[in-house]
Amino acid sequence: MRPNIAIDGPAGAGKSTVAKKLSQELGYLYIDTGAMYRAVAYYALKEGIDLKSEKALADLVRNLDISLAYDQENQLKVYCNGTDITDKLRTQIVSQNVSIVARVPAVRLRLVENQRKMAAKGGVVMDGRDIGSFVLPDAQLKLFITASLEQRTIRRMKELQAQGYRIDFEELKQEIKQRDTIDALRKMAPLKKAQDAITVDTTNLTVDETVQHILNIYKERFGCQ
Ligand code: C5P
Repeated sequence: MRPNIAIDGPAGAGKSTVAKKLSQELGYLYIDTGAMYRAVAYYALKEGIDLKSEKALADLVRNLDISLAYDQENQLKVYCNGTDITDKLRTQIVSQNVSIVARVPAVRLRLVENQRKMAAKGGVVMDGRDIGSFVLPDAQLKLFITASLEQRTIRRMKELQAQGYRIDFEELKQEIKQRDTIDALRKMAPLKKAQDAITVDTTNLTVDETVQHILNIYKERFGCQ
């Protein structure tokens, strides 16, 4: 069985871009768990659910069938109850509310069950906040990807500008910081570096440099690519 690779880290550290490229290099399946939490947040907002009500969120998630699939151009698509909602997930409103939804144990348990199933046969690169510490504690390679808050804000700012958003830098910085705080302080499966994870600080690295660095670690550990 091929190894599983767990990638965790704070918001905007470049995890998904790196994880996607890495999975392509290795011929692995990329699983974006953040997109799954975003899908729940998107539906909760769409249905006008009270985000403070754990029961309402638990009821909602029970009826959501969230799945990930690749289209012909190899782009990851997120489906919820059969509808493609990929382009609804990285908006500001979803980013601002996702951590509240992700705190709820019933939401997490439902998604984690799915994530573990997807990784059961090995050969996945899975990114999130709790992958190495909770979802896949036996993953053969665990990475904790981080970068300075300043650099993470710059990256997120560029992404939002490309989507046509005009956003104040300081406001965005505080928003990212707050999301990390909620993620790190929640009771169940918080954002945390697994004990056996390797930290990769990408503040001064390009995406390609980061991927190459991880490929070197992979080769060293598993002897081949
Ligand atoms: O990775 P991304 O920024 O898209 O994740 C969005 C949010 O989803 C995180 O801020 C966090 O609240 C939640 N999340 C989580 N556990 C994961 C992945 C994401 O709680 N494994």
